[in-house]
This record gives sequence, structure tokens and C-alpha cells, in this order.
Amino acid sequence: MGDLDQTIADRFVRGTRLLRAGQGEEALSEFRAVYASAEATGHSELMATCLCEMSWACFRLGQIEHGLECAMGAKWLWERVGNKAELARTLAVKATLFLDLGFSDEAFDLANRAVTLAENADDATALAFALNTKGLVLVLCREVALGIELIERSVAMAQGNGTVAAEAYYLLNLGFAFSKREEAADVLLDRERARMDRMKAVELSARAVEKAELSGDFWTMRVALCNSAEFLGVEGEYEAALGCLERACALPHNPGPSLTILRLYVHGDVLMRMGDGAEAELVLLQAMALADASGQVDHQVNAARKLAEILEVNGKVHEALATFKRFHALHVRQTGEHTSRLARIEEIRLETARLRSHAALLAGQAMADPLTGIANRRSFDQNLERLAGSPFAVAIVDLDHFKAVNDRYSHMVGDVVLQRIARLMVDVIGASGHVARLGGEEFALVLPEVPAVAALRICDGLRMAVAGCDLSDLGEGLGITISIGLSVGTGYEPAGELMQLADTRLYRAKANGRDCVVDGDSAVAPQSADRTLEENRLSA
Ligand code: GH3
Ligand code: MG
Ligand code: MG
Repeated sequence: MGDLDQTIADRFVRGTRLLRAGQGEEALSEFRAVYASAEATGHSELMATCLCEMSWACFRLGQIEHGLECAMGAKWLWERVGNKAELARTLAVKATLFLDLGFSDEAFDLANRAVTLAENADDATALAFALNTKGLVLVLCREVALGIELIERSVAMAQGNGTVAAEAYYLLNLGFAFSKREEAADVLLDRERARMDRMKAVELSARAVEKAELSGDFWTMRVALCNSAEFLGVEGEYEAALGCLERACALPHNPGPSLTILRLYVHGDVLMRMGDGAEAELVLLQAMALADASGQVDHQVNAARKLAEILEVNGKVHEALATFKRFHALHVRQTGEHTSRLARIEEIRLETARLRSHAALLAGQAMADPLTGIANRRSFDQNLERLAGSPFAVAIVDLDHFKAVNDRYSHMVGDVVLQRIARLMVDVIGASGHVARLGGEEFALVLPEVPAVAALRICDGLRMAVAGCDLSDLGEGLGITISIGLSVGTGYEPAGELMQLADTRLYRAKANGRDCVVDGDSAVAPQSADRTLEENRLSA
């Protein structure tokens, strides 16, 4: 990144910090700004990184569909860039979003692919994240034991490479996984086992809180505190449970409706267990109001069910019945929403496909020279960058006395000549290298992995092909020759140095009388070295 990009980098870092601190909306707007500048400068990797962060921010904010849109964009870009580790991370984020929507089959498939990719990429942090996601999917698909195994591996890996924020998140999930195992044991009336798992869930959640606080991750800290409170409540440790909820409440920044509703549920649950039905009812009414205000049917369904249960326990039969009815109606609507959600996701897919072809078109245009349609300088530079560290040859090709062509045959004919010669060069070079128009009547070749002798032969072949090219249909007596400066690298020289050398040699080729290739100390001159285009064909 250059100087210009320093502020962009700063904004990106600020975005990740805000996201961690639980300020999802603010983080999103930072990432959006960085994304816009990345897009303007054609920086695909930064675009993809932003989209991936944005989808994670959306997950934390509960804006799942928008999150999916971002994840799909990031996935496409990482595939193009060919970064397996980042692709693995993106697929894992996408899996988490699908899981949140209740599409566990899709989530499982994505998480599996994420694990395989991260393994292939040999990237420990991506693998830890992918394993955690797959574990979470398994836990929610009732394969709790398998899920626990995977998440335990992620925790160990995060500890191993010292990524505290990741460790906190994996610990949070591991605690949740143990609470699910507890539920299963409870159903089987295995009280002792259930109690052990609950204690384990309490311990893991407490560790998640501690690590999250250490890394300043308030989102994970809030969820872990709520989970702790819930597990402690079941255990009958009411004071400790209420203490956790108070701590969650005292954390800075508004956590948004999802997390507030979660805290209120747990609070209501703990109060019920304490026998304080009246207080629990008040808390759940608050949750119901927030859920209604959020307009998210999932929140409403859960709130209505819990509120109805509490009203029933409190002996308010009529109100309980009315709330149950409301729960039922909401539940029906939720099922309908599930279907329309599927349709919307399909729409997002289509929209992403449309954007892709548009972006591919733009990317193609940005890489092509408008007059000749062959690669432009930008594309050439990117090719050189890709080849860094391996041996390649570069050649700069300049049309001889081209100004005279314009002067004599018109600029329009000159344009057609440039197009013809460009095409011819691409045909002659074929698979042995890349041809680009650097600008004006100057072209460049890059020949990867070609020994010096072969490079010289290729360039001289090109020179002869151009000299022999029949352009008489464009104008009587019209012909073109080229001069070429060639430099062959060993894989150690910077590309810029090779280009500089090629340019100096081109200058010598011109001084040598044109229509020749200069390579190192030797010059391959045409058979009649003193013949120039101007003398032979134009000044008749
Ligand atoms: P030399 O053999 O020394 O390279 O002579 P030259 O005439 O080719 O070089 P010079 O740099 O003096 O002139 C290059 C000419 O190329 C001048 C400019 O009008 C012409 N040119 C540059 N770009 C285009 C283009 O896109 N279309 C046309 N028709 N002409 C162009
Ligand atoms: Mg020229
Ligand atoms: Mg020139």
C-alpha cells in the first residue's frame, strides 16, 4: 500500500476495533468507506477483506440477509484472487449466517468446505475458525459430541497462536456446546452427567468472558455473560447469575436489539427460578416490546412464548391464553418468512451473479487497451508482479518512423496499423509470452522462463514477421518495421531494472539504424542495415 492508502488502512483498523467493541453499525460504515476506495482503485483483495468483515459485522448485528450478500461478494472475489485461507474464512462466515437463518444443511456443507480449504492452505487461524464453525453446526444438528471435539481443537489452536479474541469466541461456543450436551443428558434423566456438563458450561463461559474482556470484545463478552447467567440460574446460583447480567448491562455502547432481548430473556428466566414471577413478567414485557419494535419475527415468537409461560405460572390465565394465541399466529408467520427468506436468498444469488458479470466486464476493460484490444500497461505491470522471483525476459518494441506514417497516410490509417501490428504480435508470440501496448506506438513483451538465446530468436522472429507484413491495402507503399530492446533476467533482478535495461537497448537499436533487436552487447541487425522505412518506402 502506498501513502495514499495509509488513511484507508487506518479506517480499516478502526472498523475492526469498533466491531470488537460491539459498535457494529459504526464498524459497518468504516468498512463501507474502505470498500468504496478499494473498489475505486481496483484493489480486489482489500474489497474482499472488507466484504468479509462486513458480513461478520452483520452477523453480530443480526442483519443476516445483508451479511449473506457481503459474504457472497467476498467469496467471489477470493475465488478470483485465489486465496484459499481467506476463502475458507469467508465460507465459514457464510456458514454461520446460514446457521442463524436455520438452514443447517447449507451451513454444514459450507463449513465442511471451509475446513478442507483451510487445511489445504495450511493456515492455522483460518482452520481454527472453520473447525469452530463446523463444530457449532454439528452441535445444533444434535451431533453434540462430535461438535465439542472440533470446537475444543479450535480453542487449543487459538491458544497456540495467541489469538485471544478468537479464543474467547471459541470458548463461548464450547460453553454453549456443553450446555446442549447437558440438555441431552437431562432428557435422558442422567442428572449427574447433566450437572457436570452444566458446571463445565459455566466454567467455559467464565473463561470466555475473561478472554473477551482481555481482547476488548464486548459482543462476545455480553453473550458469554448472558450464557453464564443462564447456566448459573439453572444451577440455583441466583446471586452470581444476576451479577453476570448486571455486568453485561454495564458494558459500554448500545448492543442493539438482539443482545438486549437475549439479556432480558435470561433475566426473566433467572427471576422465575427465584420465584419472583411478578418481576419476571415485567422483564419479559420489556423484551416483548423490544421484539415488536425490532420488527423481527424470530424475536417476537420467542418473546411471546416466554411471556405466555410466565403469565400462566403467575396465574393470569386469560392474558396467558391471549399471548399463546399471539405466539401461534407469529409462529405461522415465521414459517412463511422462512420460505420467503429462501426466495430472497435466491434473489441475492442472482443479483450477485449479475454484479459478477458486470464486474468481470469492468475488470476486462480496465486491463485492455481501448484502441488495439490487447493488454494495456496496467495488465503488463500486473503480469510482471506475478512473475517476480522467477526468471523472465522483457522486450520493448517501438514502431520505426511511425510519425511519418501518420503524416503521410493520416492518423486514422496510423490507428489501423497499430491495431494490425498489435494483433500480429499477439499471434506471433502466442503462448510463449504476453504482449501489451504500453502507449503510443510502443509495445512490450514479457517472456517467462525463456533462456536468452530463445528470447533473442523469438524477438527477431517478431521483427521479421512485422517487416514482412503486407499493409499495402491501407496505403500504397505502406510498410512497417520495429526496433526491439531486450533484456533477460535470472529471477533476481527487479522488473523495473529489466525494463530500464530494455529501454536503453531499444534506444541503441534505433541508433543502430532501426529494424533490429538489441540484446546485451550483441545487435541482430537486418540484412540491409542501412535500409529504413522512411528511405525505402515513404520518401519515394
Ligand atoms: P522512431 O523510429 O524514432 O520511433 O520514430 P517515430 O516517428 O516512430 O517516433 P516518434 O516518437 O517521433 O513518433 C511517434 C508517433 O506515434 C507520434 C504520434 O503521433 C504517433 N502516435 C502515438 N500514438 C498514436 C495513436 O494512438 N495513433 C496514431 N495514429 N498515432 C500515434
Ligand atoms: Mg517510434
Ligand atoms: Mg516511440
